[in-house]
Order: sequence, then C-alpha cells, then structure tokens
Amino acid sequence: MVNRPTVADAEELRLAAETARAAAAPGNELVVAAEGNISVLTPGDRLHVTASGTRLGRLQPSDFVEMSRSRLLAGIEECTSDAAWKDVLTGGTDAGTARPSVEAGLHAVLGEQLGAGVILHTHPTPVLALMAAGRGEELARERMIPDHVVMCGTRSVLLDYVDPGLELAKQALRLVREGEARSNVWLLAGHGMVAHALTAEAALDVTLMVVKMARLLLAAGPDAAALPSSEVRRIASREDERYRRALLRVDAG
Ligand SMILES: [Zn+2]
Repeated sequence: MVNRPTVADAEELRLAAETARAAAAPGNELVVAAEGNISVLTPGDRLHVTASGTRLGRLQPSDFVEMSRSRLLAGIEECTSDAAWKDVLTGGTDAGTARPSVEAGLHAVLGEQLGAGVILHTHPTPVLALMAAGRGEELARERMIPDHVVMCGTRSVLLDYVDPGLELAKQALRLVREGEARSNVWLLAGHGMVAHALTAEAALDVTLMVVKMARLLLAAGPDAAALPSSEVRRIASREDERYRRALLRVDAG
C-alpha cells in the first residue's frame, strides 16, 4: 500500500519537481508537453515516479506516485500483456487515482542496478537527431572531452528501439541481469535517454552533458575526433576526477 512520504522524501520530491521544471525549459530541447518523466528512489523498496500525462514543466511534489520497486520488478518478469502491466501499475483499480508513468518499470530496473538517487528520462532533440542519423553508437562508446568521462563514465548503454513500457523494461532488465549494462546513461534509440545520479540536479547535469556531446558530434560531422581510449581510462581513474565526481553527486562508475 502507498504510504505518506517521510519528511526526507518530501524534500527530495520538492527538489526533483523543481529540477524537472527547470529541465523542461524550451531552450534545453529535452521535452515537449507531457514528454519525459522523473523518479526519486529512496533507500529500501520505494520509488516515487511521475504520474502518466504529467507535464515536467509544471511538476509539483504531489504529482509523484509512490510504488514498490520489488513489485514492479516482479511484474516486469511476470506480465505478458499491456493489460497485465497496467494492473501492476494501477494495483488493478481505475478508481480515480493518478496512474504512474508507463515507464515506471524502466525506472525500477535502473534503480535496482544503480541504487538510491534520481532518474530523469527525457527525449532530447540533439540526441534523437544523432540516433536518427545512425550515430547513436558514437555517443554511447566515444568520449569527446574530459568532463564527458567524469559525468558519464567511459561508456553508455545503447538500446535498440522497442515498444515503450513493458517491452522496454523487459529489455532493460535482461541486460542488467546479463551484467552488460552498468552505466548512469542509457540511450534509447528512436525514443530518448535516461540519466541516473545521486541528486535531481546532478541527473539534469548528466542529461545536459549528453545533449552537449550530441550537439558536438552533430556539428563536427561523422569524422569527429574522440579522446584516445588511453586518455579516457586515465581520466576515469584519476583521483582528483573521482573527487570532483563525488562533489558533483554523479555515480558514473
Ligand atoms: Zn519516453
């Protein structure tokens, strides 16, 4: 059953709502209208995710729906239809309560892998443009500047397009279980991206870094020069960069 948020949770939800409103500013090109969603994963089993149809640009703490992460994960494994998945999301009732985002399962999977924090899911125009040009792999595997490594780690996960909602959550869970997908940035071909960090502000920072790198790659063209892998490894392991990453509240390990 859904509990009232604790005082600590309430502050996290307030900060997440504030960050979501900032993220949705049109100049960022991250979302339009009701695109995107955000979740706050508190220690234990709880996940607070935005209600379906919510505009990030007007998000309020009361727009989050509290769910059980373990129940979502079990649902991803057990469900074989959209109707069954809807029952997991709604608890089997349409009785006037807000319905959580259909991507709640994806948030639960990443929360299971990456731990407590904030997950921001957006549909950034430059990232979509790069993937539409068949260059998503470059954004996932190549690192362009030192801060790209600091904030996004040495590589990101790139998923082929699958049906949003249950199928996307199933694919993400499979990759996590196979142990091939440890990253704080997941790129979703034909769909958007997801960023995880320890705070809402940092999740937006990571998102904006990915968008900046997508813009750089688009401007530089297909022959864009990436950092040599030896330099990427060096940046990733430097003590001073680990210190800066901790201050930025980014977990890009
Ligand atoms: Zn989406």
